[in-house]
Amino acid sequence: MRDDFILPFQVGDGSVRGRIVRLGSAIDAVLSAHGFTSAVSELLGEAAVLAALMGSALKFDGKLIFQAQGDGDVRMLVADYASDGAVRATASVDGLTAGRGLAALMGKGHLAITIDQGPDMERYQGVTPIEGRTLEEAAIGYFAQSEQIPTAVRLAVGKVLRPGGEESWRAGGVIAQFMPGEGGVRERGEAVLKSAEDEEAWNRAASFLNTTQADELLDPALTAEDLLFRLFHEDGVRVYDARPLRAQCSCNAGKIAAVLARYSPEELADMAEEGRITVSCEFCRREYLFGVDGAKIA
Ligand SMILES: [Zn+2]
Repeated sequence: MRDDFILPFQVGDGSVRGRIVRLGSAIDAVLSAHGFTSAVSELLGEAAVLAALMGSALKFDGKLIFQAQGDGDVRMLVADYASDGAVRATASVDGLTAGRGLAALMGKGHLAITIDQGPDMERYQGVTPIEGRTLEEAAIGYFAQSEQIPTAVRLAVGKVLRPGGEESWRAGGVIAQFMPGEGGVRERGEAVLKSAEDEEAWNRAASFLNTTQADELLDPALTAEDLLFRLFHEDGVRVYDARPLRAQCSCNAGKIAAVLARYSPEELADMAEEGRITVSCEFCRREYLFGVDGAKIA
């Protein structure tokens, strides 16, 4: 797999585990659908990579929803990852978006990570204030506060020139976490770094990961395996099977019709233009057409 995948790995004896994400046409589809400014697209792409990095650690079928809300020009970011590899993302932008990065674009607010295992299971949600200048820093803060897991993260989003002269979005990210023990299972709140050896193993892995450059995560000519070897070869790195990622939205006409059914005939009439109600999906920007009675127009 050369693109649009997630590759799990472990460093050394396995107490440091991680995943690397490379996104080509999938992130180009997600970001191109919106047409945001490059600064907003970069932040949204980072959120999508982060959702995939976090969501792919789940051991069950479900969805991880990353959400950020702030009082800046970007009011909201949402990116979600389904365990079958589907990724989608959207932002709510209110202003001219001066500046770059999480703090400049979103101001003060909070991050929420929701884990949805389907209608029969309770949702888990972790919430922390937005702290740090970048989404990387905020993610590290989230893991430290909400999960108490030592975490190092790198995220990168950028445009590359394709053969033929067209620009397209690419994105990449790598996460490593200190998760000793059988399958990384431990009690919530338990101290993770228990000894000087733990401390040293983690600090080495984190410092190697932190040398990752954006162009290494984005370069289509550098494979994920080669990049991991470059980062962690001193301690040994083992990779597992890669899993594919794709841009896919879960919207459909039935779900939108169910929403429209909650409105009164008068409200529906107000929404209509020239006898039609047009509803655009906020994630994929696909448009659905309905009549004034809320029935789908084929
Ligand atoms: Zn959609």
